[in-house]
Amino acid sequence: MRIKDIFKEKTVFSFEVFPPKKTSPIEVIYSTLDELQGLHPDFISVTFGAGGSGNSRYALDIASRIKDSGIIPMLHLPCINFTKAEIDAALTEAQQRGIENILALRGDINPDIEPVEDFRHASDLITYIKTKGCFDIAGACYPECHPDAENMVEDIINLRKKVEAGADHLITQLFFDNDHFYEFREKAAIAGINVPIEAGIMPVVNKNQIERMVTTCGASLPSKFVRIMTKYEHNPEALRDAGIAYAVNQIVDLVASGVDGIHLYTMNNPYVARKISEAVSGIIGA
Ligand code: FAD
Repeated sequence: MRIKDIFKEKTVFSFEVFPPKKTSPIEVIYSTLDELQGLHPDFISVTFGAGGSGNSRYALDIASRIKDSGIIPMLHLPCINFTKAEIDAALTEAQQRGIENILALRGDINPDIEPVEDFRHASDLITYIKTKGCFDIAGACYPECHPDAENMVEDIINLRKKVEAGADHLITQLFFDNDHFYEFREKAAIAGINVPIEAGIMPVVNKNQIERMVTTCGASLPSKFVRIMTKYEHNPEALRDAGIAYAVNQIVDLVASGVDGIHLYTMNNPYVARKISEAVSGIIGA
């Protein structure tokens, strides 16, 4: 089934996983996948290194394994460091394996890697994938503006190009303040962006994540969030439970506000995914 059709039936609930490091065998993710699949998400997306990480081969294998388990896979595909021939090879292999859903991305610009100019923006890749005629295509979007964009107006205009090129649905960057999402959704609607928008939710459940968030993630941290993280940062169990509770609160509010879907950044942590799934199963289906 194509993901775009599920939005017509219900609030979509999906997961994201990332492949293991290239120095680890692929099997290290199998038990995680088994547990996540048992939670019956509408689909599971698999991230794909934008170049240089060397673990992108795993992404196709993981997506195939998800498909074999009866769950719809979505393959992320960043383009900025790949030639058209490499993108073609990935799409052909995806098609041969029956993977019908692609999250088309530019990928972050790595200052140490000269970008390949075959596809400069995600919209270029979407236009290209569309010519294949056999994929459902998603795109990324940024409730707090993409860091490369001058401002929100420019970013939304560019987002509209992505949708006009053929994106069937959008998934947001993580955010911790739902008001950013609501404002963004309204601006997108005013700009004529009328495809479903899934909200990307990241449960922050350990200290490493907090540190990474502060240094690398553009998402703003509301005072309520900072208070909770500061209070429990030295108590791993309490921090985990507080992170789960915070994510559940976000999801309940989003669903009550008519969100099209929730995309859970699971961080390959099935315990956290299970706790959240159990807490929201009644409201997602209601
Ligand atoms: P684009 O849509 O190309 O946008 C990038 C910038 O260019 C923006 O500032 C935009 O305003 C501007 N722009 C866009 N189109 C045009 C245009 N036509 N003309 C002029 N300017 C334009 N990265 C990975 O490497 N692997 C992954 O698996 C991965 N998964 C992700 C999943 C999600 C849900 C999200 C939100 C991000 C993910 N990323 C991933 C990160 C993503 O690759 C980066 O955020 C990247 O910097 C931008 O990708 P994009 O597809 O949004 O780019």
